Amino acid sequence: MKVLVINAGSSSLKYQLIDMDGERLIAKGNCEISGMQKSRFTYKVGEEQKTVIDVKTDVPDHTAAFKMVIDALVYSENKVVQSPDEINAVGHRVVQGGSVFSQSVIVDNKVIEQISELAALAPLHNKANVTGILACIDVLGDKVPQVAVFDTAFHQTMPPKAYMFAIPYEYYEKYQVRRYGAHGTSHRFVANECARLMGRDISELKLVTCHIGNGASISAVDRGKCIDTSMGLTPVDGILMGTRSGSMDPSVLTYIAEQEHMTAEQVDEMCNKKSGFLGITGDSSDSRVVNDEAAAGRARSQLAIEMQHYQIIKYIGSYAAAMNGVDGIVFTAGIGENDPLLRRCVLENLSFLGVELDVEANSTEHIKKNTRITTDSSKVAAYVIPTNEELVIARDTVALVNGTL
Ligand code: ADP
Repeated sequence: MKVLVINAGSSSLKYQLIDMDGERLIAKGNCEISGMQKSRFTYKVGEEQKTVIDVKTDVPDHTAAFKMVIDALVYSENKVVQSPDEINAVGHRVVQGGSVFSQSVIVDNKVIEQISELAALAPLHNKANVTGILACIDVLGDKVPQVAVFDTAFHQTMPPKAYMFAIPYEYYEKYQVRRYGAHGTSHRFVANECARLMGRDISELKLVTCHIGNGASISAVDRGKCIDTSMGLTPVDGILMGTRSGSMDPSVLTYIAEQEHMTAEQVDEMCNKKSGFLGITGDSSDSRVVNDEAAAGRARSQLAIEMQHYQIIKYIGSYAAAMNGVDGIVFTAGIGENDPLLRRCVLENLSFLGVELDVEANSTEHIKKNTRITTDSSKVAAYVIPTNEELVIARDTVALVNGTL
């Protein structure tokens, strides 16, 4: 079965075509959707993922973007299938599933309506996801099964004591204000991979999964179920990120808003777009740049890096306490997979839990595959596991289409 995985954002549509017989990536790329300006469209094929199309063109909306994807896959010089019928199913990443979706579902009109209604909790994202689904129906018709896979679904097992905020209860009842988390597909994937690598059943393990990219979240996975996660109602909660602040005393916001006469929207923009690495360093949200500047002795860059390491240490420690133990820790995503300094600084501070870093294994700059980075005698195993959210989406799509999920 060939599955097309779609990640539709407000200004881009990322895609991967995966042959699920052998879980082989056939082609992938990205289509920017820039409205009035020229948009960049890329198309990579084959095992080497060679770029065969990289053009700037007019892409006014998601339907136009989806048409470009189908044109490249089915009709271009470097086509990878002979007809659209060879695309057996489409899996969509959907950001917010609220309390409605605790697992992936086949898309029908009711599901589209529910995802649209949940846009109140994630306005930009869910609207773009729905537009992506509708664009797909527009171009491929309604005979190709489509599946929605939610970023929040894995976190739906959290108990109320973890997902409630201690504010007047009426806001939970009226507006469904609670912790939903994000990156759930990634946390689910790496937790299961970790158990497999440890040669243990996930139902007997306590794991902390650290998805540290530009956006970053940490989850406590107790016997296969998420019991807590660092992102909250929205992805701004938790640890310091590229441009997001992470958690803080809420009165920081009311105080600054009062002093600077800021609207709620401006406060939101400050926390999501102007904070984190960018806010502290004043010049970069990219961890590579911040790391380089810190190494060159720039104090504010050193501070930003230290803050992120410190916050990750605190989360792992608190989740170990929440689960009354921890057997495995996983690092994944852009920074988690590629930054040995971060992993070393974090793990060296967790020796009280019995973590014993394997300095040599951790030092590899670009770990491309699953790697254990603790010694054989370490009481807690730590791993670098490259995440693969698209593969999880494709697997769920196959399982739902075959009726096995
Ligand atoms: P997102 O999907 O949230 O946009 P990614 O998982 O792609 O984020 O991670 C992006 C982050 O990963 C950036 O801060 C980038 O600097 C960092 N990153 C990528 N490669 C490396 C590397 N080789 N060393 C350190 N950081 C890296």
